[in-house]
Amino acid sequence: FELKFPENEPVKGYMPGSPERAAIKAELERQLANPVEVPIIIGGKEIRTGNKAPMICPHDHQKVLGEYHVAGEKELLLAIEAAEAAREEWENMPWEHRATIFLKAADLLTGKYRAKVAASCMLGQSKNPFQAEIDAICELADFLRFNTYYAQEIYKQQPMNTPGVWNRVEYRALDGFVAAITPFNFTSIGGNLSTAPTIVGNTVLWKPSSTAVLSNYYFMQILMEAGLPAGVINFVPCRGTDFGRVVVSHPKMAGFHFTGSTAVFNGIWNQVGSNIAKYVSYPRLVGETGGKDFIFAHESADIEALTCAMVLGAYEYQGQKCSAASRAYIPESLWSQLKGRLEEEIGKIKMGDVRDFTNLMNAVIDRSSFLNIKNYLDYARESQDAEIIFGGGCDDSVGYFVEPTVILAKTPNFKTMVEEIFGPVMTVYVYPNDKLEETLKACDTATIYGLTGAVFAQDRAAVIKIAKALDHAAGNFYINDKPTGAVVGQQPFGGSRASGTNDKAGSAINLYRWISQRAIKEAM
Ligand code: NAP
Repeated sequence: FELKFPENEPVKGYMPGSPERAAIKAELERQLANPVEVPIIIGGKEIRTGNKAPMICPHDHQKVLGEYHVAGEKELLLAIEAAEAAREEWENMPWEHRATIFLKAADLLTGKYRAKVAASCMLGQSKNPFQAEIDAICELADFLRFNTYYAQEIYKQQPMNTPGVWNRVEYRALDGFVAAITPFNFTSIGGNLSTAPTIVGNTVLWKPSSTAVLSNYYFMQILMEAGLPAGVINFVPCRGTDFGRVVVSHPKMAGFHFTGSTAVFNGIWNQVGSNIAKYVSYPRLVGETGGKDFIFAHESADIEALTCAMVLGAYEYQGQKCSAASRAYIPESLWSQLKGRLEEEIGKIKMGDVRDFTNLMNAVIDRSSFLNIKNYLDYARESQDAEIIFGGGCDDSVGYFVEPTVILAKTPNFKTMVEEIFGPVMTVYVYPNDKLEETLKACDTATIYGLTGAVFAQDRAAVIKIAKALDHAAGNFYINDKPTGAVVGQQPFGGSRASGTNDKAGSAINLYRWISQRAIKEAM
């Protein structure tokens, strides 16, 4: 059993006349016509509490995909028991057997269930087919295959021996369960955060986002069909506060795998701190959190490349990527031409129902997100320090739609330049060409975040200078490319500062966090 370095799952194009397009179109209609009931899954068993919540289509809030059962304290305690009961056998299962389950799950996802999972992601999380494909299919399959490969490479590492001494390390799982809380915007993140710790022998309680239950549930079903033993991952949709109270403060929580907003992660960290003496092991805390990602243009930037990066980086998936370009620093000498090109390209963007494949943009995730974005737009509209130059319209009469928007800010510290909005809103600050240093400093210090960023320059010396000045401003840094779209196995993903613990998703660094080594010295 020797795994080769995996290849990335090829992205399907959903072009007119293609079999994948016909399959997904049929699946979209099937799911809209057949609402489903999603159970909680604990110890391999389906549990229905009767306390149900709807799964709403963001592009048309009158349409529901079904309902899911909400776990309460009783079910969360049962899930902890199930995870603890499954732990010993799972950890001691030969590594090759564990690996086979995740590789089979990747094949089921990219084969038999491709259309089903992608369609549920399109409808439930409001993605066009390309965005659903790169997330729920390709990236998720890549996470499974690459993490399995990286685990194999970790297990090969052994210390040196000396005469008369046999040294070795055992790669044990953590001494307790891992809690995974996952966000709405990527099904792949739900799948990765729940499986990465299990690949190296842990058992998990997985709380998916309340606004992304369906696609995550279909992935959970795939894991079970692939042979995941009962109790290894327990799927517990529930209120975040209940999960925090019951699970995060439990003495056997040995790891916490989170992706979501900085505020929620900070709250969990505080909670762990206040319970610290209770835990059997210090919990490993891994969090990928918010971002306020930048594009920094130098006067030598290529305007076409810059236009393309700003439009795709800011508006694909309605700007709801943690890596989305949401602030741009543009030199005065480029602005008038760039503004014209942005106006042309933004004017071509179509927005609407996910079933119309010509729409680049769909809806934002829910009412609270819609209102949050609208508040920022109202703030900018009323401010003396900024002007909405494109877009700015919002309409929630059918779905939660927000136009692709550009705000021009007079200062680099304007509110929308600094705070994460998580919507299709990009703020531009135009700087005098002779104020490069000051503007770089503003870019580095304006926000609390450090997730992604991009520099655009054709002058190599400028690239080097800007990359150096912004060396801690982004965990994923792009040169002459948009700051979104990291690929597993190519650009390990994660940021620092208030953007997370930077334990790079889809890498050996992340897997090490779920391993507790035992080093053994044996005198021979
Ligand atoms: P969120 O509101 O922070 O929610 C994330 C998860 O935390 C959800 O499952 C949510 O449950 C749960 N939660 C909420 N309040 C909680 C509490 N008090 N205790 C325990 N859990 C709680 O984030 P989101 O809106 O889903 O996702 C957007 C955010 O994620 C953005 O800030 C974005 O930048 C970040 N993100 C970061 C990365 C990265 O790699 N750095 C990647 C993707 C997203 P409910 O859904 O039930 O509320």
